[in-house]
Amino acid sequence: MSEPTYLTVEQLLPLAVAIEHRQRQQKRGQQFIRRPLPPCPTCNVAPDEVSTGRPPNHFTGDLGILFEHCGHRFLVDDATAHEATQQAAQIVDQDEQRPAGASASPVAFHAPQPEYVIALRADDGTLIVGIRPDGSIARGPNYQPDSAAVEFWDAVTRAAQAAAPWRSGS
Ligand SMILES: [Zn+2]
Repeated sequence: MSEPTYLTVEQLLPLAVAIEHRQRQQKRGQQFIRRPLPPCPTCNVAPDEVSTGRPPNHFTGDLGILFEHCGHRFLVDDATAHEATQQAAQIVDQDEQRPAGASASPVAFHAPQPEYVIALRADDGTLIVGIRPDGSIARGPNYQPDSAAVEFWDAVTRAAQAAAPWRSGS
C-alpha cells in the first residue's frame, strides 16, 4: 500500500488532458480557468490539486503524481507520460476546433453557395457534369465524355442565352 503504483496511459489520459488545457490557457494569457481535475484512480475522490515531480529516493526518470486531498501517490514512466501527453494534445486540439457558440463558427455567416453554377443532370437527378463556383468541373458517375460533353455545352449555351437573351435567328 505504501509503494506508489504505476498509472497506465488510460488512467493518466484524463489528467493529461486537464493539464494540457491549463497550459494552453496560460500560454495564451487567458484568465486562468480551473478545469475540473479527474478523480484519483485508486479511491475515486476528486482532488483539490494534483502535484507532479520527481519523487525523492527514486533514481529512474519516472514522474511522481500526488493527488492532494486523498493523498494517493502514483508513478508514471517516461513512455506512458509521452504517450498520454501526445494523445491529450490531440484531444485538446479537437476540443478547441469545436465551435463554442454560433459566433465561433464563421461558416454560419456565409450565405450558402450553390454546389454548382451550372449543372447537367440526368432525369433521375444524378449529376452528369457541372461547373462549381470556383470554376472546377465535376463529373458524375454517368459522365460519358462524348455525348455528355455535347449536352453540357448545349446547356451552357442555353444558360448564357437565358442570362443575355439574344437570338441567332431561326
Ligand atoms: Zn485517492
